[in-house]
Amino acid sequence: MKKLLPISTVGSLPKPTWLSTPQKLWSPWKLEGDQLIEGKQDALRLCLHEQQLAGVDIISDGEQTRQHFVTTFIEHLNGVDFKNRKTVRIRNRYDASVPMVIGEITRQKSIFVDDAKFLRKQTNKPIKWALPGPMTMVDTLYDNYYKSREKLAWEFAKVLNEEAKALQDAGVDIIQFDEPAFNVFFNEVNDWGMATLERAIDGLNCETAIHICYGYGIKANNDWKKTLGSEWRQYEEIFPKIQNSNINMVSLECHNSRVPFNLMELIRGKKIMVGAIDVANNRIETPDEVANTLRKALEFVEIQNLYPSTNCGMAPLPRNLARGKLSALSAGANIIRKELGV
Ligand SMILES: [Zn+2]
Repeated sequence: MKKLLPISTVGSLPKPTWLSTPQKLWSPWKLEGDQLIEGKQDALRLCLHEQQLAGVDIISDGEQTRQHFVTTFIEHLNGVDFKNRKTVRIRNRYDASVPMVIGEITRQKSIFVDDAKFLRKQTNKPIKWALPGPMTMVDTLYDNYYKSREKLAWEFAKVLNEEAKALQDAGVDIIQFDEPAFNVFFNEVNDWGMATLERAIDGLNCETAIHICYGYGIKANNDWKKTLGSEWRQYEEIFPKIQNSNINMVSLECHNSRVPFNLMELIRGKKIMVGAIDVANNRIETPDEVANTLRKALEFVEIQNLYPSTNCGMAPLPRNLARGKLSALSAGANIIRKELGV
């Protein structure tokens, strides 16, 4: 029988300190050449081991082989200049120095496929691989070529689809697209955001997920959340589109957020990765707190569709903290399993 409440993470986990500087986004690698390749593989092994110890059922690569969830993908594409960077405002929230699109976007070779094959060899558990979504990619660079967010998104969707198919062939079970930008640009989601995402999953037979959150636990995001009022209803704007899409799973920020749980009603029938771990504070949840969040979600999600998870990636957290949070997630799910006798 299929295990109920399979545990997963959204994706990123802290890297070992010998690989890159901890608690920092875009942290540079500490190794190079062959040593870096070997170091990344060792990090993947450790990250798998820690997930298995914590009772995680759907394994991720912890994004150990990438510097950043968006820019590492873009870095491998043709048509992007990484040397001449521009400062842009990301999701209308914070400034970052980003690469520039200077020509036609193409993907000459696979980006994460070797990493995925490596991880696949180490475990028989299902593997989930995260890729950035087209809209979030568009929002994380400066376009000096297409001069249209929509046109650029279609180009990204095409190369994402190529990569996703190759990952599927490498044995990845679930491909997740990270689209935090969906929580900000509602009109664009409805005009072309969802359509370009559908293009990215076109022809895939594996499961597909979309992750939409309120961002990593960095100051700019935490400050933004304070301006959102007592009820966060952003999901309400985009859920109808998602409900009508071919995406199988939706990953949401729930624990400690002000998202009304009943919004999940709008995507009933989809598999929901319920964020039961807050990645924006340095306190480890108690198993009971996790169980409470899952219990609340169960009012609106059938148990076979509920996937306990984290609110977002844990890359910027101290390593022992992330480890503790993973164990709490697993213990919390066990409380519910026991309670329901499943
Ligand atoms: Zn996120």
